[in-house]
Amino acid sequence: MICNNCKQSYDDSLNACPYCGAVKMPTAESAAPQQSPQPQQNQQAYTAYQQQPYGQVPQVQTAPPAKGPATTSLVCGIIAIVLGCLVPIAGIILGIIAVVTGNKAKRILPPEQRGSANAGFICGIIGIVVAVIFWIINAVIISSLTSFLYY
Ligand SMILES: [Zn+2]
Repeated sequence: MICNNCKQSYDDSLNACPYCGAVKMPTAESAAPQQSPQPQQNQQAYTAYQQQPYGQVPQVQTAPPAKGPATTSLVCGIIAIVLGCLVPIAGIILGIIAVVTGNKAKRILPPEQRGSANAGFICGIIGIVVAVIFWIINAVIISSLTSFLYY
């Protein structure tokens, strides 16, 4: 053992230098093998712990029930647009259902699965707008027809 302070060599069994009293410092060689295996073991345990809950629980339990309202919203929204042109009151009802279910689905679903929920929400709003426009058009046509017939 060579002292780091005074460079004198002394017995390895001593904890401090007998010449200058400096405490024996751990060398780079003796410190390295003790420290490096610990983080690796911790990381392995950490990833093993992470993989179990992430691999199975959320995918099986949350995804299928949450996709229901998103699909319902999209279907109702599309039908609302079509029906809005023909039967405005039905288009408005379906449009409201599409908006409500789409909004619910957006809150339940993770961001990457909100596509159809967003589409249903937007289709619902379009359906309501179309239904209201056609309702007004129908009312104008009917009133002008009746006024035409009465004159
Ligand atoms: Zn020394």
